Amino acid sequence: MPLPLSLVLVGDILTGRGVAPLLKSPQSSVWRYQSLIAGADLAWGNLEAAPRSAQTGRKPFYNAGDLGTLRSVGFDGFNLANNHSLDAGSGGARQTARVLASLGLKGAGLSLDSSNPVPTWNVSGRRVALVGATQWGPFVKDNVRLTRLETGSLCHTIRELTAQGVFVVASLHWGTEGVATISPQQRGIAHQLIDAGAIAVWGHHPHIVGPIESYKGHPIFASTGNFLWDTMPAPQSGLVARLQIEGETPQSAKVSWKTWRIDPQVRALKAPPTPKGETRVGAFVGRFDANNSRLSWIVWTRNRRSNPVLRAMEPVPGGWRVRAMGLPREVRGIQIGDLNGDGRDEVVVELFQRSKLDPQNKPRFHVYDVEPNRFKPLWRGSMLSRPFFAWCLVGRGDDIARDVAALERGQHGLQWLTLYRWNGFGLRAVWQQSFEGQLSRLQSGCDAQGTFLSLHIVTRSGAKTLHARRISGENWRVEDTFAP
Ligand SMILES: [Zn+2]
Repeated sequence: MPLPLSLVLVGDILTGRGVAPLLKSPQSSVWRYQSLIAGADLAWGNLEAAPRSAQTGRKPFYNAGDLGTLRSVGFDGFNLANNHSLDAGSGGARQTARVLASLGLKGAGLSLDSSNPVPTWNVSGRRVALVGATQWGPFVKDNVRLTRLETGSLCHTIRELTAQGVFVVASLHWGTEGVATISPQQRGIAHQLIDAGAIAVWGHHPHIVGPIESYKGHPIFASTGNFLWDTMPAPQSGLVARLQIEGETPQSAKVSWKTWRIDPQVRALKAPPTPKGETRVGAFVGRFDANNSRLSWIVWTRNRRSNPVLRAMEPVPGGWRVRAMGLPREVRGIQIGDLNGDGRDEVVVELFQRSKLDPQNKPRFHVYDVEPNRFKPLWRGSMLSRPFFAWCLVGRGDDIARDVAALERGQHGLQWLTLYRWNGFGLRAVWQQSFEGQLSRLQSGCDAQGTFLSLHIVTRSGAKTLHARRISGENWRVEDTFAP
């Protein structure tokens, strides 16, 4: 049996116009979902823009370099069958095809001089195709054409590919901007495409999220909304969908899916002011609302008596509201991240605290939920393997949830890199590796190959930087070391 195949689908993308700063912002959907995108076998979005040119004016455009950023985040291809691909004429569409090819990316639903508009990928023993089509034109410029949403011919294409054992996802640019429903006609088309063999129907164009339906076990995403966009601000305007496909043939494919609602309308953020008489130690952005759409700040200060104070601050018209305040303890470090995968962030605090249950005076992790008016403790850490001296949150690669990676001091001069995962009520060690030498500078990151940890190691033979990469589930492999 081949391994399950994972696909990530996101909505509309432009990288130019007002979106450019978002590409660099750690709060934007690109970086927030990077671990999910890079961890998937295939990740696709709807690139709804033409290359920047004099003709594009205020129309959505992309800058070629920004597609490189999307490549490095982990995208593999884009739907190009949409009403903006031909905004810069046939020359623009040719340029898009060139830029994508130069980056090793593929586009769906666009054909130059009758080239094949259906890209395929070989992943984990399967062939996967993206069949893109659009309801909205312009459809033709010179010898460049977009695949039209014509049910009969799409079914024919899907049937042919499926008969060859290819797993097909149908990508449809359809519906009405700002309308979050699926019409009976759209539903009928989706059912016909699935009957023809498509394992999923992925819709886009309305710029807001539409309903998700299931037909014979296959998902229909009416609209995945925006992923990177600068107009039509609406809360929860985007969807990230992760599909897991099992089975050796498209006919026997079992599809399961999980989705996350996102708000890509994140603008440059200004931190709230520090209260008078206090000094700021740090400020962190997180999403603590059940609807996962609004960003709040966690501001860490010291008061006049030098005691640490944590405040969760949320933006309100004309200022800030303190949403929760507390934790006057020996806070030594804070990170914000979603440990349990519920789409809301938790606050992970490194504390130095003695208690009856935990008489050793050692740093511990405590985990809090930010609720209206309080930091609700989810876990007051103990049970950690060894005393730790550096830590960070790290993406799991197949989920938006984060693990905690820690450097620990063991016996006999050994140091350990340990990964802790939320198990419903606490953090449990799921992977560890020992090293001889001095470890320091633990950092996490993500690239097109997935999640990695990097740390500094000093041994008798010298200093090196070491990379550990997640290879599957809980397992990591020390991948390479290099001298700094
Ligand atoms: Zn559109």
